[in-house]
Amino acid sequence: MSDFETIIVGGGLAGLTTAYILAKEGVETLLIERGNFAGAKNVSGGRIYSHSLEKVIPGFAGEAPLERRITREKISLLTADSAVTADYFSPGPGAPGRDSYSVLRVGFDQWLAGKAEEAGAQIVTGIKVDDLLLRDGNVRGVAAGDEMTADVTVLADGVNALLAKKLGLRAKLSPAQVAVGVKEVIELPAAVIEDRFQCGGEEGTAWLFAGQPSGGKVGGAFLYTNKESLSLGVVCTLEGLAAGVTTLPQMLEDFKGHPAVAPLLAGGKTVEYSAHLVPEGGVDMVPRLFTGGALVVGDAAGFCLNLGYTVRGMDLAVGSGDCAARAILQARRAGDYGAGTLGASYQNALNDSFIMKDMKLYRKFPHFMEKTPRIFSGYPEMASDLMARLFVVDGEPSRPLYKKVASSLKGVGALNLMLDGMKGVRSL
Ligand SMILES: Cc1cc2nc3c(=O)[nH]c(=O)nc-3n(C[C@H](O)[C@H](O)[C@H](O)COP(=O)(O)OP(=O)(O)OC[C@H]3O[C@@H](n4cnc5c(N)ncnc54)[C@H](O)[C@@H]3O)c2cc1C
Repeated sequence: MSDFETIIVGGGLAGLTTAYILAKEGVETLLIERGNFAGAKNVSGGRIYSHSLEKVIPGFAGEAPLERRITREKISLLTADSAVTADYFSPGPGAPGRDSYSVLRVGFDQWLAGKAEEAGAQIVTGIKVDDLLLRDGNVRGVAAGDEMTADVTVLADGVNALLAKKLGLRAKLSPAQVAVGVKEVIELPAAVIEDRFQCGGEEGTAWLFAGQPSGGKVGGAFLYTNKESLSLGVVCTLEGLAAGVTTLPQMLEDFKGHPAVAPLLAGGKTVEYSAHLVPEGGVDMVPRLFTGGALVVGDAAGFCLNLGYTVRGMDLAVGSGDCAARAILQARRAGDYGAGTLGASYQNALNDSFIMKDMKLYRKFPHFMEKTPRIFSGYPEMASDLMARLFVVDGEPSRPLYKKVASSLKGVGALNLMLDGMKGVRSL
């Protein structure tokens, strides 16, 4: 007889989703979070695609502490002193499950923790799980000061995945597979945000940047509008940081001081600063996801997709928590928590879901980024040079457009541009 049917390690979106679904189905569930409350240690740029949570809690947007619905998308290529920006505005799609929102994790995670508790889950905070209990090769619970046994243990402990490593499920990651992100939340009045970012009362902007922010290395910057604050930060792979000349905090300062960014932040007050790892290796860094009595979900499983124009980890965390909960319910009905029943159900649910389908579809993208440094230094300069040739009128006789374009392409080379374009499109 176990102390609990399920113990979940980690109160991020993956663990909380699993806890909510299981508790609702009457499964005796304990979630252990090392932070003082759910969300205390969780960092996100701050935009959640709603589809997976909408499936778990239909109509959640009506009650969750969301910031703004994203209606404007911007992508900028930055050099040291210029910005070339694509700007897409659309009030749609807007239907539940097709929209996305900026969120602040502290409030959002606590809201989901409240939902899980209301459903009957026990959540204990301020306690770190140090180890797993093993019996006959199967996981039988956790050691967190005291020993607590469970039929199933869900490893939702985030990107470091120390427990999955202890089980030998996860291999050591290479510096190209992990990025570090630093983020600030900067307070500004709602009216100022709406003016500067041209958005209506409930609407918001998601803005991604490449080039200068990561010092030309694999990485970039993000800026999301909240109701009365901005979430902004810089991300760079460990490999890029090791090869670069600047530290990550300095990259953030340089980004905030960029002439195209600084005016957006003017008068703002930094109220939060955080740093966190991001799994960026794609499907190749996904470990074995189960063993007898245990499943791995969310960032601990490497479920994160950064495609340059979208950054997704939260919807995958929720989706994998959903798959894990359904697999546990199936194993419970069968009365078999061994790898054969529990693990196979989880793997099948993941394979049938958007998670493994998307992770597999974009398998080549992390390698493309790694092998194409021109995206981060080369193309931003080329785009800026071309814009200057198009828009600067200085009284010199003008040149035909094709000559202007050809001159701008000289830096990277037309052939490189064509080949990179083809490889990029194929990797997406
Ligand atoms: C800078 C940055 C920007 C990002 N931007 C976005 C974005 O805009 N959109 C998006 O969708 N995703 C984004 N992500 C990714 C997203 O934040 C993650 O994919 C997501 O939070 C993963 O959720 P999780 O529940 O798996 O892990 P986490 O949210 O990391 O939760 C893990 C939890 O486990 C707890 N824990 C760890 N070890 C133990 C232990 N031993 N005992 C008890 N508790 C433990 C931690 O305290 C934590 O609460 C971003 C990430 C970063 C770092």
